[in-house]
Amino acid sequence: MCLSACGKAGVDGKRILAAEAGDWLSYGRTYDEQRFSPLDQVNKDTVKRLGVAWWASFDTDRGQEATPLVADGILYTTTTWSKVYAFDAKTGKALWSYDPQVPGEKGFDACCDVVNRGVALWKGRAYVGTLDGRLVALDAKTGKVVWTVQTTDAKLPYTITGAPRAVKGKILIGNGGAEYPVRGYVSAYDADTGKLSWRFHMTPNPTGAPDGAASDKAMKDFAYATWSDGAWKDGGGGATPWDAITYDPKTDLVFVGTGNAGPWNSKIRTGGKGDNLFAASIVALRPDTGEYAWHYQTTPRDDWDFDAVQHLMVADLPVAGKTQRVVMQANKNGFYYVLDAASGKLVSADNFVKTTWAERVDLATGRPVEAADARYENGQEHQQTPGALGGHNWQPMAYSPKEGLVYIPAQTLYMDYADPKEFKFIPGAWNLGLGPSTLSPARAQPAPFGQLIAWDPVQKKARWKVDFAEPWRSGVLATAGGLVFHAAGHNFVAFDAATGKALWTYDTGAAAIAAASTYAIDGEQYVALMVGFGGAGGMGGAEPRRKGRLLVFKLDGKTVPTPFPAPVVQPPLDLATATPSKGDPAKGAKLSAQFCVTCHGAGGYLPVLARSPVILDPVGFKAIVLEGARKPHGMAPFRRFFDEASAEDLRAFLLAEAAKPPPAGEPQTTHGR
Ligand code: CA
Repeated sequence: MCLSACGKAGVDGKRILAAEAGDWLSYGRTYDEQRFSPLDQVNKDTVKRLGVAWWASFDTDRGQEATPLVADGILYTTTTWSKVYAFDAKTGKALWSYDPQVPGEKGFDACCDVVNRGVALWKGRAYVGTLDGRLVALDAKTGKVVWTVQTTDAKLPYTITGAPRAVKGKILIGNGGAEYPVRGYVSAYDADTGKLSWRFHMTPNPTGAPDGAASDKAMKDFAYATWSDGAWKDGGGGATPWDAITYDPKTDLVFVGTGNAGPWNSKIRTGGKGDNLFAASIVALRPDTGEYAWHYQTTPRDDWDFDAVQHLMVADLPVAGKTQRVVMQANKNGFYYVLDAASGKLVSADNFVKTTWAERVDLATGRPVEAADARYENGQEHQQTPGALGGHNWQPMAYSPKEGLVYIPAQTLYMDYADPKEFKFIPGAWNLGLGPSTLSPARAQPAPFGQLIAWDPVQKKARWKVDFAEPWRSGVLATAGGLVFHAAGHNFVAFDAATGKALWTYDTGAAAIAAASTYAIDGEQYVALMVGFGGAGGMGGAEPRRKGRLLVFKLDGKTVPTPFPAPVVQPPLDLATATPSKGDPAKGAKLSAQFCVTCHGAGGYLPVLARSPVILDPVGFKAIVLEGARKPHGMAPFRRFFDEASAEDLRAFLLAEAAKPPPAGEPQTTHGR
């Protein structure tokens, strides 16, 4: 077995296909994205000896979502703001880093933090998608830029947070932004030159004209008829493929998961009519041309932000006595889908968490059988699980072929949806089409919780589950050592893959949400994990911001990372020093709900505005809110949405909020970039 540094000519399809045990060459390790490593030096017997071999600290305290890749002795990872780092994978020596200098104000266009999930490697280069929509090819040895292309319209609120994939000499990259919304697509660029090879749009062109893209025929054949005229034309319908892109060499297809349709409320988006293809769908394309092969829509006429971008995994499963090539997804909507990889035909769909919005999926039609009250299109309010954060989100799952189990980092979170009395599209802002709900707290949502679910995709049921207080946790790694690595809160845990028993726990000192990877050098197995919390509004709780870290473990590792410095506690505001506001707090409350709370609300990943000294002084407040004085930190200027009077209305509301006692669980610490 080739344990490491098997070829110095760089990563290519042959090496990714060979699945060299010692390396981790692609986002999900192998093209099938099973995130299963054949390494077994760290196993059920030895894992208690696992300790830190080396570690590194980064310059940002926001969410870390990258899977570290390892090739030829070099570890590649990314951090927030799309920065790339290369380390000697054995010693941890920093080799190079690359900062694409993403403008700070671009942070406003990222619905869910300024995160990045990693690089692709191909023939001596490392490729990264940047938050502002660039695809950058770097020399893998030096970090020098080889080429850069802008993959999106830079004037629109597109983002890239997902990892590129390298397939047959092309680099595939998607985009995000369905909450604003934008019109989603996946692009393939020539790995060598950066020239666009093909592009596939996930919704029709609102003008009705063909795009001159690979998607034109599929738009005409399938998609146009599933949209009715409506407000969707303002933003293009969403359906952004912001994470899952999986290549299957056996069927020679690329499977792409698409985001929610936008605005979320289908009455506003599409007059409450039509399925809205290819939103909330799995779309199969031919990698050489981008030609359409098949699609399966997990949530027709989505009303709930049920993106279908979660991890798409390919496997050979024994189905009805025969081995079948399948593609699988633990969808945000709570159902575990198994599809025939060649045809897209639905094999099974079973709920892995409670799904109050739909009782089951009809295998004959492939459509969910919705609960009678699941829609909220006639002025009503509605509470359900899963909500917009999903029964499973982007955190990658893993599969152990030895156990025949898929390990799903699942969560149960209720959400209230309400039809608004009025809706006005605001270009460049969030446009969800939801009204304020009065259900909670009067009708309290059941408490959220998390589960690691060992799902048997053949028996279509869980073999074991482990419960967690934390819904928002890490991705998963499975190994031939009989282990499943998963982090909850500050605990990085190795579970017995067969039983779910915790065999080893390490206190990371801060919460992790990324998935670990593993590799081997000179006969030693390493396990690498990015640590740093964020990635979604409302999930932060009291977790203080801490600088991101990479922790790399091996057997008998004896390194003790420096403890995190104590978080800086925000001193209470002295409201007696505030310049009183003549603004209208009721108007300010509306502005806060529309523009601020997703990031700055309780449990958000940015400072709670009612605790910020910035609100005391109208001049400084306007300099930040209207003119962008804190742009470098990610705070965009809001002059395009607000005037002087509305900024003062917002300040009046925040001063009123500041006079109230803080709610339980509100973070009391300061934030950086
Ligand atoms: Ca979404």
